[in-house]
Amino acid sequence: MLEKLKKEVYDANMALPKLGLVLFTWGNVSGVDRERGLFVIKPSGVAYDELSPEMMVVVGLDGKVIKGELNPSSDTPSHIALYNGFPEISGVAHTHSTYATSCAQAGVPVLPMGTTHADYFYGEIPVTRDLTADEINTEYELNTGLCIIETINNSGLTAKEMPSVFVKNHGPFTWGKNASEAVHNAAVLEETAKMFIMTKLINPGASNMPMELLNRHFFRKHGANATYGQK
Ligand SMILES: [Zn+2]
Repeated sequence: MLEKLKKEVYDANMALPKLGLVLFTWGNVSGVDRERGLFVIKPSGVAYDELSPEMMVVVGLDGKVIKGELNPSSDTPSHIALYNGFPEISGVAHTHSTYATSCAQAGVPVLPMGTTHADYFYGEIPVTRDLTADEINTEYELNTGLCIIETINNSGLTAKEMPSVFVKNHGPFTWGKNASEAVHNAAVLEETAKMFIMTKLINPGASNMPMELLNRHFFRKHGANATYGQK
């Protein structure tokens, strides 16, 4: 069942340690089959070098495990919230990569300061609000996902225009058109966060890039009038 998607999600998960985005089991990637309303996610607490495509867990968008011997990632309810809240995405990645997690812990959004940022993120990469005590004590992982949706919606951007968020005191979530793109965005986010921190270290007063330059770069790669790459 969903063998192709399992392989894709397995490959995407294995890319996390290869890209230096996770240590131990600190991360998870999923991918959804929108037609069937099912998604595939990494099993909970299994080391990357022990993973195989068969070990990926198939879960319904209602949270029910459809197939798999192992328990799905403990962050599964966050992934479900994102798939239900953002119908335009089909892959989600979560890591604790160092620079992105540092921004999440500091509660500092990453501002658009250069074209690397603008090629992927249409503006400031936001930080979620603090979860309430109730939200932490009941259905914590689901509430984390709902808070991410709230943050993106409040930003006035779509999930395609802003494919990432910093969960306050936790770490980054990224998404994309499939599991592989979600991981790609996780790697770009890590690099973008690193560049932002370095830029502010060199010059704390450095200002945001001009809006014209942000527009030029973002819309060269995204949307109806994109011109980047090969036709
Ligand atoms: Zn986490």
